[in-house]
Amino acid sequence: MVDTVVIGAGQAGLATSYWLSRAGVEHQLLEQRPELGGAWQDRWDSFYLNTPNFCFMLPGMTYDGPEPDAFLPRDAVIELFRNYARRIAAPVQLGTEVTRVARADGGFAANSGYTANEGFAVETSQGRWLAGNVVLANGAYQRPRVPASAAKLPRHIRQLHSHDYRNPAQLPGGAVLVVGTGQSGGQITEDLLAAGREVHLSVSACPEAPRRYRGKDTFYWLLQVNRHGPDYGINSLQAEQLPSPAARFMCNPLISGNDGGHSIRLRDLGRRGVRLHGHLEGADDGVLVFSDDLPARLALAEAGFGQRMKLILDAYITAAGIDAPTEEPASADDWQPAQSGARLDLDAEGITSVIWSTGYGLDFSFLDIPVLDQWNYPRHSRGVTEVPGLYTVGLPWLTRHASSTVALVGADAEYVAGHIAGR
Ligand SMILES: Cc1cc2nc3c(=O)[nH]c(=O)nc-3n(C[C@H](O)[C@H](O)[C@H](O)COP(=O)(O)OP(=O)(O)OC[C@H]3O[C@@H](n4cnc5c(N)ncnc54)[C@H](O)[C@@H]3O)c2cc1C
Repeated sequence: MVDTVVIGAGQAGLATSYWLSRAGVEHQLLEQRPELGGAWQDRWDSFYLNTPNFCFMLPGMTYDGPEPDAFLPRDAVIELFRNYARRIAAPVQLGTEVTRVARADGGFAANSGYTANEGFAVETSQGRWLAGNVVLANGAYQRPRVPASAAKLPRHIRQLHSHDYRNPAQLPGGAVLVVGTGQSGGQITEDLLAAGREVHLSVSACPEAPRRYRGKDTFYWLLQVNRHGPDYGINSLQAEQLPSPAARFMCNPLISGNDGGHSIRLRDLGRRGVRLHGHLEGADDGVLVFSDDLPARLALAEAGFGQRMKLILDAYITAAGIDAPTEEPASADDWQPAQSGARLDLDAEGITSVIWSTGYGLDFSFLDIPVLDQWNYPRHSRGVTEVPGLYTVGLPWLTRHASSTVALVGADAEYVAGHIAGR
């Protein structure tokens, strides 16, 4: 029996633990993995964070090293989180998968000081916990999402999700099709190119973003707007202002932290020999069908940053009176794909493997409490769900876009921990 169970000991769970400890709330983190390091352990070998080091603003540990503008490689990120857990003395039980969370029966209420109908039974691979509060910090990047077309590919094609991709040597010889142009798809494509592989890339609807804007890393400005924008009447988009709840799942901009950090431009990839295709619409006996709108997709990806983010950043720089260099409008890139055929015969093109860089779905399958909306997202306000005692931290767009990132997860965690302490 414990006051609060936190499910997951990634950055969201650890940040919550920090604030719970500060508030003197007894708690226990349950983590299914044998080692700390959260979802960072699922990234490929050449992975570098997309966010620069100055974004490490975890409660109780902000980055104060010599390279604030550099990017950490995967293993250093994992190590950093292990250090963080030690530093904040997070009470983590590793190797413990939560398999079911349900309301506790009346017996728990009688023994715990909670009133009837409060409290939770938390079933795990290591036994049962009873808790007054439960924080869902199990991450948004656990359940790889694969389109239905995957089931229709011939058996000799090697398929894997970006979740399981580690390096090009994992793949058989021959050309590779990468499906999806979010951060994973773009970066894995570059990883394959660096290994001399022939790559086909199915373009989705993610915007490109400049690595640097007006003299700084783009994340620098994004962070400034989040932290100081309200002082000048400039607010980044909040979750409740999204045009639709489905927008919470829109992809992150194409960008990379590799090689000191750089933008990823789809037309550049095309220039470097990547064969670009439209959105994957279906598969039939080894022939894939793509949307026939590649030029429009390339234009849309290029326009993405300018349509919204650039306007907010410029408004902030002006309102705050910051002397930042102006940015010359990028000259139009008129590179066009040689052909944008809608059909691709895998065997004829020598494609032997497909990497699904198609993102993740939320996974709360252990939750036996009806609190999820039609998108599988807990119904909540600032992480406080509509079920008393049940909380969530670390999901994208919990309060804003960056709620799942190292930079801003701590603020949401603080609010949730404060609410728990208040109970
Ligand atoms: C390709 C990619 C690149 C990214 N790059 C960046 C970046 O540069 N900067 C950034 O800030 N963010 C980035 N992110 C987002 C990043 O993954 C998250 O910031 C971070 O991992 C989220 O931390 P978390 O604690 O919410 O979730 P996780 O790291 O997923 O931690 C959740 C933990 O819960 C555990 N868990 C899940 N289910 C159970 C269960 N039933 N029982 C017990 N334990 C359970 C998991 O094992 C996991 O350890 C990236 C994401 C992806 C996919």
